[in-house]
Amino acid sequence: MRLVLFGAPGSGKGTQATRLKQDLGIPHISTGDLLRAEIKAESELGKKAKSIMDAGQLLSDDIMLGIIEERLGQPDAKPGFILDGYPRNLAQAEALDGVLARIGQPLDVVIKLEVPNEAIVDRCVVRFNKEGRPDDNPETVKKRLAIYADQTAPVAEFYAKRGKLKVVDGVGELDDVTARIKTALESTSAASA
Ligand code: AMP
Repeated sequence: MRLVLFGAPGSGKGTQATRLKQDLGIPHISTGDLLRAEIKAESELGKKAKSIMDAGQLLSDDIMLGIIEERLGQPDAKPGFILDGYPRNLAQAEALDGVLARIGQPLDVVIKLEVPNEAIVDRCVVRFNKEGRPDDNPETVKKRLAIYADQTAPVAEFYAKRGKLKVVDGVGELDDVTARIKTALESTSAASA
């Protein structure tokens, strides 16, 4: 199963991906986590990424494509993957299509987690207090939501046109949201193949 979990920052993509990866037996690939690991390792990429991420901005499409190509090329991604945080704009969606077409492994489905902005802001405050992510401070969350609305949200339409988008209500108990995602996955061709 090749799946993208899509949604605004704080919509629960990471939390749900962590729950689904066990069930599906495929890796959770979060570009944000990959970048945070680079920052922790104090690599050149990490140094470049930190100020951009702390400001709530997006890294360049070229850098992101390099990261995603490298990660998808690793053996554990052969049976499938759950992508979280990529693609984040139309250029990245086109680039991902290209990469997957080259290896003959197109996406099966894109699940969009829908959560209203007020709930997102509340969740990011909780995460800020718990995990201390610099980009979860309320001012930066507002910037990230604006970038999401402007650049990322149109990606849903891109996949809807290709018949790959499923929208799931991301509000409620974690178990309920997981159950909704699983129901949505059951109706994809990959699940019945
Ligand atoms: P996330 O953990 O997915 O919210 O990502 C945290 C930050 O990493 C984002 O606000 C961006 O600065 C950067 N980032 C993650 N994924 C991407 C991407 N696909 N394109 C550009 N920047 C990204």
